[in-house]
Amino acid sequence: MAPLPFQQSYAALPERFYANVPLSPAPDPKLIRLNNALAEQLGLDAQWLASPQGVAMLSGSTMPEGVNPLSMVYAGHQFGSFNPQLGDGRALLLGDVQDARGQVWEVQLKGSGPTPFSRSGDGRAVLGPVLREYVVSEAMHALGIPTTRALAAVKTGMTVLRETMLPGAVLARVASSHIRVGTFQYFASRQDLAGLRLLADFAIARHYPQVAQAPAPYLAFLQQVIAAQANLIAQWMLVGFIHGVMNTDNMAVSGETIDYGPCAFMDQYDPNTVFSFIDERGRYAFTNQPTIALWNLTRLAEALLPLLSEDEDEGVTLAGQALEQFGGIFHGAYFAGLRAKLGLKTQQVGDETFFHALFDQMHKQQADFTNTFRSLSDERVISGNYLPDTLAGMQPWLAQWRQRLAQEGEEAPAVRAEHMRRVNPCYIPRNHLMEAMINAAVDKDDYSLFETMLRLTASPYTEQEGMARYTQPPQPEERVRYTFCGT
Ligand code: AMP
Ligand code: MG
Repeated sequence: MAPLPFQQSYAALPERFYANVPLSPAPDPKLIRLNNALAEQLGLDAQWLASPQGVAMLSGSTMPEGVNPLSMVYAGHQFGSFNPQLGDGRALLLGDVQDARGQVWEVQLKGSGPTPFSRSGDGRAVLGPVLREYVVSEAMHALGIPTTRALAAVKTGMTVLRETMLPGAVLARVASSHIRVGTFQYFASRQDLAGLRLLADFAIARHYPQVAQAPAPYLAFLQQVIAAQANLIAQWMLVGFIHGVMNTDNMAVSGETIDYGPCAFMDQYDPNTVFSFIDERGRYAFTNQPTIALWNLTRLAEALLPLLSEDEDEGVTLAGQALEQFGGIFHGAYFAGLRAKLGLKTQQVGDETFFHALFDQMHKQQADFTNTFRSLSDERVISGNYLPDTLAGMQPWLAQWRQRLAQEGEEAPAVRAEHMRRVNPCYIPRNHLMEAMINAAVDKDDYSLFETMLRLTASPYTEQEGMARYTQPPQPEERVRYTFCGT
């Protein structure tokens, strides 16, 4: 049996950064799925992970020698209100591993029982949200969007009380780190300057080692996080992804999507779409995501102020200048992405108006976000020989689009369509399919739709024979209006 190559890098930070957590063994742990490819990439022994000892670890029941699980402490703004003391209420950090390319990854269990930060929660996760996070995070990865990954899903054999009694489960997830904006807020709000500096140095070494040599490393770090988040949110907006709970404790300084709760991909395009049941005011609506990201980054900048300059006014000026870059980076990435989605190679005056016109039209027609772009990625549509139902009613905009394409020169429609199909997915984890997948698993112990969704979304741009129904938006009776938190 190969020992796990875990390092305990975070545990080397001072004790006030985390709490060691006693294990709460699962009564009957069973592996639902192991991500073999990811295990291999991380240099973990997949066979061992699938063995009874491996599953015991993945369920948080017993740990191999040398693995001392910990829960990280953090604070955060939740729906705009500051909570000075949060922390991993149901997560255990097992350690970190280095892959063949030298990149470091942390392995964390989510849902394995109470921790000193559980507050009133039970520290558990239930099967549905675990399967949803597994599929959605792996789908995001396949779409090329920075994200935490899913290493394994395990059933605990325990029943957990939510609105009803539900099967308990644990997700093993992998991230380049689990440091959040809220982790910085924790130390800043306690005026623990030494802690703040240690955390910043740790995050720099892990995520942005190049800035350690910069003349002002902490400012450069802030700039890097701002750029990473601006790029990330642009990627979300380009696939119609709604995170659902963009609290500052759910925003990673690595720029990876983290903490999948009531998240969803939009079907019908509506900029004001909100899925999260608890988001009554639409704070985290689709179109608000860039604004909220900047709001969260402003909280990060505030937390970092003491490290930016000894002079507070100067720190504020520097932070303000860094935050001002967000809009330009976001729009640069977003418009570049839209151009690629529309098969455009050049930047032209009037592009923004042209993009807006498309979204206006989509909104009016309640067009499906994903299928609109996929339908455009067809040589017959590009040449004007075919009008699929999805695009019916868009003729005036399509005429403009073809004109715009013609201005770009003589690329063969088939070639253009091929390029567009590489950025416009046909398979996304649609909400009604996630719902059906969860119901089948919870009610019938049937994981076939889970497996199908994983297989299709792993190659999101490649249509597969006989799978057309997985590209379809929900029927009216299948529509999911709200999603609930993973709690
Ligand atoms: P979230 O918005 O789901 O990321 O969670 C916000 C905070 O609540 C984090 O500190 C979580 O660790 C904590 N939390 C969420 N669910 C539970 C639970 N079932 N038991 C204990 N703590 C939880
Ligand atoms: Mg969270």
